[in-house]
Amino acid sequence: MAEASPSIERIPGYCSLCISRCGSIATVQDGRFVALDPDPSHPTGRALCAKGRAAPELVYDPRRLRYPLRRTRPTGDPDPGWERIGWDEALDLVAGRLAAIAAEGGPESVVVSVASPSTSATDDTTTWISRFMNAFGTPNLLGSMELCGWGRFLAPTYTYGAPVPGAFMPDLERAGCILYWGYNPNIARISHATATADALKRGARLIVVDPRKAGAAAKADLWLQVRPGTDAALALGIAGVMIERGWFDREFVRDWTNGPLLVREDDGRLLTEADLDGGGRGGGPARFVAWDAAAGRPVVYNPATGRYAGDPSLLPGTVRVATVAGEVECRSAFEIVAAGCRQYPPDVVASICGVEAAQVVDAARMLWESRPVAYYAWSGVEQHTNATQIARAIGQLYALTGSLDAPGGNVLFTPVPAPNVEGRELLPPGQRARALGVLERPLGPAKWGFVTTDDVYRAILEGTPYRVRGLVGFGANVILAHADSRRGREALAALDFYVHADLFMNPTAELADVVLPVASPFEREALKVGFEGSQDAASFVQLRRKVVDPPGEARSDAEIVFGLATRLGLGDHFWGGDIDAGNRSRLQASGLTLDDLRAHPEGIRVPLETRFRKYADERDGVPVGFSTPTRKVELYSQTLLDHGYPPAPEFEEPRVSPISRPDLAERYPLILTSAKHHLFCETQHRGLPSLRRKAMDPELEIHPAAAEARGIGQGDWVVLETPSGSVRARARFNDSLRPDVVVGQHGWWEPCPEVGAPGYDPYGPDGANLNLVIANDVVDPISGSVPHRAYVAQVRAAGDGGGLGG
Ligand code: SF4
Repeated sequence: MAEASPSIERIPGYCSLCISRCGSIATVQDGRFVALDPDPSHPTGRALCAKGRAAPELVYDPRRLRYPLRRTRPTGDPDPGWERIGWDEALDLVAGRLAAIAAEGGPESVVVSVASPSTSATDDTTTWISRFMNAFGTPNLLGSMELCGWGRFLAPTYTYGAPVPGAFMPDLERAGCILYWGYNPNIARISHATATADALKRGARLIVVDPRKAGAAAKADLWLQVRPGTDAALALGIAGVMIERGWFDREFVRDWTNGPLLVREDDGRLLTEADLDGGGRGGGPARFVAWDAAAGRPVVYNPATGRYAGDPSLLPGTVRVATVAGEVECRSAFEIVAAGCRQYPPDVVASICGVEAAQVVDAARMLWESRPVAYYAWSGVEQHTNATQIARAIGQLYALTGSLDAPGGNVLFTPVPAPNVEGRELLPPGQRARALGVLERPLGPAKWGFVTTDDVYRAILEGTPYRVRGLVGFGANVILAHADSRRGREALAALDFYVHADLFMNPTAELADVVLPVASPFEREALKVGFEGSQDAASFVQLRRKVVDPPGEARSDAEIVFGLATRLGLGDHFWGGDIDAGNRSRLQASGLTLDDLRAHPEGIRVPLETRFRKYADERDGVPVGFSTPTRKVELYSQTLLDHGYPPAPEFEEPRVSPISRPDLAERYPLILTSAKHHLFCETQHRGLPSLRRKAMDPELEIHPAAAEARGIGQGDWVVLETPSGSVRARARFNDSLRPDVVVGQHGWWEPCPEVGAPGYDPYGPDGANLNLVIANDVVDPISGSVPHRAYVAQVRAAGDGGGLGG
């Protein structure tokens, strides 16, 4: 008898395992999800990475969590005594404990942690998680913004008043020159990698700044091998060449940056109209002053109108200006910036960064001659003790190109009209100011509600500034993702109540009181209003279909959020627990309905056109400008000055380097940095056989000469030591590295028994948890960023031929 032909269904959707959100087609054969392939008709669907292709393994992994679990033994007991419970019981228990903690200590004593949407599928649910937090009343989101996102989303607000390049994305289709800084799209965002390859084919130039020659760096016209953490000096040096040679957009800088504004030499503050006339003309301290070089007189600039009462210049040198308190010497903000850059001529950059002086000039020339410039930066420049200065210096350099929001530059593509339903209006007044860390770092991530991991640990363990007693975790494996893992364990174990929602048990989840099983993105519906990377992507709306049912009783994060919210009496803010109703509200202004989207699972394009240079639009006769205090791109930030920080970008040597810590240099002469692994999203995926087979052990990249000097052979187990501890990894030779730089991999803990690959103890020297050797005591003063990418280290042969952990 002939066998029945298999039933095959191909379901369009997108992989949401990382920020790329690649358009995909899932193949379901006889009810089983068997393959995920690219969907070239989707704006982000040209290719999938190995992680996306391994999606069926993720779905059917036998270690998936299937049922809600409750701890029955104390935290710290080697056996948590997990007990299976039902969803109603679990959600009632969680809601009851959270409500009790909030009643006693205020809602801020509950923190919510979320795995970064850049490297996980939480993008499906972050809107609802934010709404939940706001409705519950806590300002404390543990989202690791100090490690991933600060440099591209929040630090740029002090320059641009907007996330450049986080939201102003590189217009790769039109760029003349692409600049990637601490960013390898081949690993971090495949859709950018394919668009970059297209751009190079049509003749765009590519500059990559990266300590490693990996991915995009290998294809670059110019690869600038910067010493980890010295990126600000490089950016200042390139900018210095551009300014000196006139290779910058003078009109943009004069008209749209605060470069023309005069800065008092005596106190560093912007000169105001009140300085000139004592406030007699009513302009007061809110109006600033520039210099009209042709007329030889000061001209007032009014941010409220965005206009000068004259013709401002980018005054070189100094000028003495008559004020009500006598003459004051002033320089233009641009002159201060230029002077800052002059401190880093190419030969000085070469000595600091290790980039050849000629390359500094070449980079400046290429940026200028090949403009428009589109750029992107990522965590390579974010995990440093000087992360804010790096972001400011790169932002300043980019402003010189004049490419912002211009075709081929970094563009805010027109979004699909959609209301923000994060519920910011629901957070009670005054709660934002209670975010952890906002007192110590008032301009840091906590200002936006992103609290740093260390501030959470401190609040739990020391009750400073108040005691955090509850944690709601959506996938964040903070023990492995952040420095100081042992302190993290101590903190999470000290919580009164911790609920963790995830696909798998992991070292962080093991510390929870209740663990909730989460459906993978292939087992749940999700609405995406606009993708990233191009106007086509931004115009694309898709309601991703469920491909197969989740295992056991696993549920989507959204169901968990809506379920908790209704039990906490917040149902009115959550459409009575109806997720479809919530999604309908997100679609209100788009002209689309859920029914339209369900009928078109391949997604729908909303006809939208890109509008460029929106900062020059006028509203009621006033240029829109930028959302900064001066309504201009702030090369010089009085906001930073007012808080005791450098107002113009500066280079500061990384605070835990062999140069800044000569006392450590002899014992730890190497610089430890790290890079994303192309097969794993951060701490995930090492249990998937097809991926783990290609990367059985943690590796440490090392220059062959550095290895030889230490008696280390290719593939040998080595001990990586820093002042904070030691871990093990296998040596991988990389002769394109600087001999004083080694590159580690973070996130190793998970076993993969199917291929005989071990797990690793997250807390001990026989393990491979890279974050065990990074401390949190010296951080970026503005953001709290931790030096995961530049830290003193030494490497030696393990000597015992083994490196297996627990
Ligand atoms: S790059 Fe890979 S993991 Fe990320 S969305 Fe695309 S296929 Fe998924």
